[in-house]
Amino acid sequence: MRRLAVFLASSDGHDPAHAALAAGVGKELARRGIGVVYGGGCRGLMGEMADGALKAGGEVIGVIPRSMVEREWAHEGVTELLLCDSMHERKAMMAERADAFVALPGGLGTLEEVFEVWSWRQLGFHAKPVGFLDAGGFWTPTLDALRGIADSGLLPPSTLDDLAVAPDLPGLLEALEERLRSAPQPAHGASAR
Ligand code: AMP
Repeated sequence: MRRLAVFLASSDGHDPAHAALAAGVGKELARRGIGVVYGGGCRGLMGEMADGALKAGGEVIGVIPRSMVEREWAHEGVTELLLCDSMHERKAMMAERADAFVALPGGLGTLEEVFEVWSWRQLGFHAKPVGFLDAGGFWTPTLDALRGIADSGLLPPSTLDDLAVAPDLPGLLEALEERLRSAPQPAHGASAR
């Protein structure tokens, strides 16, 4: 895996463990030589992750709509800051540049981004694996809700099983690599869109 798209909160939240987690993930990805693609902000968990990676010498690509540069405080120290015109374009640019996608703790934006790439994978629009870093059980209630939807027959169990989930980064990377190794050719072209 050359580059990982990381979706995570633009704010800090109440639990300081989340900031430490985000910084640690950035640092570990840099140590492993895996570049990061993210939303380009310098604040919140997004900023912590980017700074963790940059301090460890990693590659960090930020993608942010022009209209959000001030609102999300675009990070000026990233390896490459790509400006775009819309949220749709932001997600497409991130998806094109990444080999896999993961969600760290986050809110509505994080959920929206990870669910979109996961649903695209279900439809065969791309073959890039998707995962949740369930550190401290942050995503467990969400995953339980998804299991309930699968139990209702409206979400294929195979789609749920296809999601890489692990409580720590090494475990999550291993699960993503496993899916990359067994990836079928994408049905609708190589990129996510
Ligand atoms: P949040 O998890 O709500 O803090 O948001 C995390 C990131 O997702 C922020 O950079 C948001 O700007 C971004 N985001 C929110 N909604 C969307 C969307 N529809 N498309 C792309 N990015 C989004």
